[in-house]
Amino acid sequence: MSASIRLGRILGIPIGLHYTWFVVFVLVTGMLATSYFPDAYPGWSNVQYYGIALITSLIFFASIVAHELGHSIVAMRNGIRVKSITLFVFGGVAQISKEADRPRVEFTIAIAGPLVSAALGGLFIGLYFLVRDASDPAAALCFYLGEINLSVAIFNMIPGFPLDGGRVFRSLVWAVRGNFVRATRISAGLGRGIGYLFIIGGLIVVLWRHDLVSGLWIAFIGWFLENAASASYQQVAAREALSGVRVEEIMTPDPPIIPGRVDLRTLVESYIAHTGKRCFIVSDFGEWRGLVSLTDIRRVPRERWAETRVADIMVAKEKVATVRREEDALRAVALMEELDVNQLPVVGGNEIVGLVARDNILRLLQTKKRLGTA
Ligand SMILES: [Zn+2]
Repeated sequence: MSASIRLGRILGIPIGLHYTWFVVFVLVTGMLATSYFPDAYPGWSNVQYYGIALITSLIFFASIVAHELGHSIVAMRNGIRVKSITLFVFGGVAQISKEADRPRVEFTIAIAGPLVSAALGGLFIGLYFLVRDASDPAAALCFYLGEINLSVAIFNMIPGFPLDGGRVFRSLVWAVRGNFVRATRISAGLGRGIGYLFIIGGLIVVLWRHDLVSGLWIAFIGWFLENAASASYQQVAAREALSGVRVEEIMTPDPPIIPGRVDLRTLVESYIAHTGKRCFIVSDFGEWRGLVSLTDIRRVPRERWAETRVADIMVAKEKVATVRREEDALRAVALMEELDVNQLPVVGGNEIVGLVARDNILRLLQTKKRLGTA
């Protein structure tokens, strides 16, 4: 999920809003101002209802960011980079660069978010008792924030993967069974089941309670959970299909080579235009010096192509991540995901013997799927 609006960074992590967040922000603020606060505290002015509602929902969404920061801090302590935190229609999501490699790490990352929400919930309920005799608006705000943060903690602990509770459940199964893929299959199955229960529950609310909005909302959450659980399982199944496959089996051998002195215009007109290749190994006198790709070329304005040489813009050998030809293809996938790149040079001895790209891996998975072996 990519953010539509960037808010800034906390602990180096970019925080952003997805456009669907505005829908839920308006719904929560409107619900607070027109029904929740008026029911509990009749007799305020409209300005007061809307003002307190606005402040309350802003603090609520800040609490969601705190929940995601809880996951993120534990992840970073375990050496897992956090790419971003994004708020969207169903709450927040912290995107991490790779999965935990041990059950204990997954368990602590997963439980950290609900613990933050529970602590915030307790804090606001405590504040409510402190301020309730002094100020109605402050009491109303604290009570709602206490209630909603506790609900967030409880909802997220439902054991349906990929909710936090589902991750906790997976880490326990993983610890007991010692098999990550099987643990994911079991918890994704449970997650899909819980998704279906939400959908059925939502329909019951629509048909028997005649509450269309709440019912559809519950069903919508169920549909989202079911989808997310299936997608997570497919991702893990893809990983399983790749294990035991060596990089050299799927790489494109003999990658295109170009000398460092060639200028960009020649590169584009004589090499790229003819071959359609997007990535070149820069090599002089039989020794490879770096890598140049379409992305690097695009950064240079077209009018400067004739005077810029490949060696000026290439990513130098020392900065290029590589995989060895005999390594597991899975390791190449994890590395590409972690570094956000589309291809990696494959090294054999001191030479580049091929390139492995995301396309190679997709093709392998499709072939396996067609043959029924994945
Ligand atoms: Zn969470």
